[in-house]
Amino acid sequence: MKSFYIETFGCQMNVHDSEKVIGTLEERGYGQVQTPEEADLVLYNTCSIRDKAEQKVFQRLSENKKARGKVFGVLGCVAQQEGERIFDKAPHVSLVVGSASYPKLGELLVQIEAGGRRVTGLRLDSDDTFETAATRRDNPHKGYITIIEGCDKSCAYCVVPFTRGHERSRASASVLREARELAGAGYTEIQLLGQNVNSYRDASPAGWNFARLLEEVGRVDGIRRVRFTTSHPRDFGREIIDVIDRTETLCNQIHLPVQSGSTKVLAAMRRQYTRDEYMRRIEWMKASKRDIAISTDIIVGFPGETEADFEQTLSLLDEVEYDSIFSFKYSARPNTPALALEEHIPEEEKGRRLMVLQERQRAIQLRRNSALVGTWQEALVEGWNSAKGQWIGRTSQNRVLNFVTQAQAGREEMTARYVPVRVTRAGPNSLAGECAIAV
Ligand code: SF4
Repeated sequence: MKSFYIETFGCQMNVHDSEKVIGTLEERGYGQVQTPEEADLVLYNTCSIRDKAEQKVFQRLSENKKARGKVFGVLGCVAQQEGERIFDKAPHVSLVVGSASYPKLGELLVQIEAGGRRVTGLRLDSDDTFETAATRRDNPHKGYITIIEGCDKSCAYCVVPFTRGHERSRASASVLREARELAGAGYTEIQLLGQNVNSYRDASPAGWNFARLLEEVGRVDGIRRVRFTTSHPRDFGREIIDVIDRTETLCNQIHLPVQSGSTKVLAAMRRQYTRDEYMRRIEWMKASKRDIAISTDIIVGFPGETEADFEQTLSLLDEVEYDSIFSFKYSARPNTPALALEEHIPEEEKGRRLMVLQERQRAIQLRRNSALVGTWQEALVEGWNSAKGQWIGRTSQNRVLNFVTQAQAGREEMTARYVPVRVTRAGPNSLAGECAIAV
């Protein structure tokens, strides 16, 4: 049997794309191995959102350039961004495939197996984006479903429109079919994926928007939790909150990237909303009947960001009180409009701002988690941490909740169960608790 090794970098969409790639390879008779040394075919599914992520791939490739008898392939966003240039930068690479071409991966492998070199799949306009042969799911608890590919926005720092192309929404019937298959396979949690799920527009006659699709996925028998990522404030409509309010299976957790608290910087980033417009969406969430946990993405050190602009991002943290944030230093990316901007911030200063921001947020998270001590939370049991002697759980708000049970419980009995846990301790990034259920 031919063997393959795959390493995945970047976002949840890449994680799910790798599940599709693995499904196609297994269907072609390949077996997965855990190290590149053991593999006939070595694949890197790449991310180019920041320079560091891109450099990691070329470092891996240079580490392996002396390996004999192996086929190397670069997949994902760096593949799409760099295309055939990869063959010049790393001559031992034979395969370069962007995410929109995964439905064609089987055909490309035939060329490779026939001894093909410089084999590429780089079209961005394919209509069969969602129709991959098979998907091998690695997460036993949560099933990912891509509902939209690409992005029609043009945020000044972002490579996604270049690496994943324009927006293509998947037909609602195809999304529901996959949701029912997941429920049939025993999944109880689904995560809907897209670079901008809010601009989902069902191309089929049903013509559903995102809120309607979300509600219908929430009604699939056997599904207990539905999450979605990533949203864009410009397209985030109030009807999404209304649907969450009336559909218990939709998790009370929303990720709404803001990127900056300064309207001046938001305009330079071409984010298409102001601080006030963003805060209106936060007010909708805080007015919801369900205690919605809110998370976001923030970039510090965007060209032209002054200390006063940065202070506005800090004051936004205090005003919103996010439950968690993903924060990054601005990283100049190829093909992006921000490259032409002046007043680039020195790396050291970007580092200082990132540290200040993360410290401020850490205090907020500790305060918010501490307020949950003494409450009961429903946890989906994701596994056992033998080092700590604790069960690993996750709440509907996407908080990590590690807990002990009063009675001895076997992994079979507990994993994938939903159990009530009383919160006894809180940290900035997780909760701890006790579960009294009989097993
Ligand atoms: S909305 Fe902006 S940041 Fe998000 S993928 Fe599209 S261009 Fe990139």
